Amino acid sequence: MQPVQTISFSPAGDDSAPGQSWQSQLSGAIRDPKALLAAVGLDERWLPGAEGGHQAFEVRVPLAYLSRIKKGDPGDPLLRQVLPLEHETHAVAGYVTDPLEEADHTPMAGLIHKYATRVLMITSGACAINCRYCFRRHFPYEDHAASRAQWGKTLDYLRDDDSLIEAILSGGDPLVSSDTRLAWLVGELDAIPHLKRLRLHTRLPVVIPDRVDDAMLEWLANTRLQKVVVLHINHANEIDDSVMKACERLRSVGVTLLNQSVLLRGVNDDVTVLRALSERLFEAGILPYYLHVLDPVAGAAHFNVPDSEAMALHDSLGEQLPGFLLPRLVREVPGDRAKTPVRADSLRQASD
Ligand code: SF4
Repeated sequence: MQPVQTISFSPAGDDSAPGQSWQSQLSGAIRDPKALLAAVGLDERWLPGAEGGHQAFEVRVPLAYLSRIKKGDPGDPLLRQVLPLEHETHAVAGYVTDPLEEADHTPMAGLIHKYATRVLMITSGACAINCRYCFRRHFPYEDHAASRAQWGKTLDYLRDDDSLIEAILSGGDPLVSSDTRLAWLVGELDAIPHLKRLRLHTRLPVVIPDRVDDAMLEWLANTRLQKVVVLHINHANEIDDSVMKACERLRSVGVTLLNQSVLLRGVNDDVTVLRALSERLFEAGILPYYLHVLDPVAGAAHFNVPDSEAMALHDSLGEQLPGFLLPRLVREVPGDRAKTPVRADSLRQASD
């Protein structure tokens, strides 16, 4: 199952590139395994595996992100995040379609209410990029239509529960939605008196930095809510000058920038790489927030780093960075009321 698109995408491989509107860049994303291999300079030996993975979860790579990938290098850490592989078609014990059991925490379509004081709205069923390790790669977005009517029902839910202080827009990627729709939605959230914060979970400012345009900055600047944007960056090479600029623009309207990464085999499972990531994030005005261990989603087992290795890496990282640049090493445990520190979870498992 693949995310439902709330936008229409054109065939891959056109000439769209940074400098065009973000919408054109979005519609010009590569969506074909063969086109991806050609664009990154890999030969057709990779094709059967790429097509197999693509059947399970379709390829999607915007050209702005592609431009940061070293050509002809199958081990490039950015390419590994987006290149489908045959491993994805293997069933592995313990790897399932809904690793976080989100289906148990959806009081209504389009809304996930798992933690106290905050709710997550599925604002869009599409992403600008399809990350191979995504824990929502099997999420039934078609059951969570991001229509204005659906948003109306979730807004009623938020109005009726005055224990809520934070609304989180997620997806998919909420910034795939148009600024007209987002401005309307944020205006409605703004009018709910008990809400204090607006949070966006997005990878768009990283993969298509031109998404941070004047129209977006306008609705962000106009809300009374405190604004937090949680980006998703796994490797320092993802942060080029265009991403730096996008971050600067977000900060100019009062946005606090945080980052969550996923610890991924072959991408960032190395203390030097993780240290460089934290340093580069801070240069961009982003605080490292979480380093997640992989959620056991079907098709992504080849990215897993065992807990013992993750904890050793995190310890080494802590010896090399100031505390404010050290992300918390966590996992999501279905049923827990907050993110669970991996060390605590390990001790819990050992005592069970
Ligand atoms: S951007 Fe986020 S939600 Fe979208 S595919 Fe990547 S990890 Fe998943």
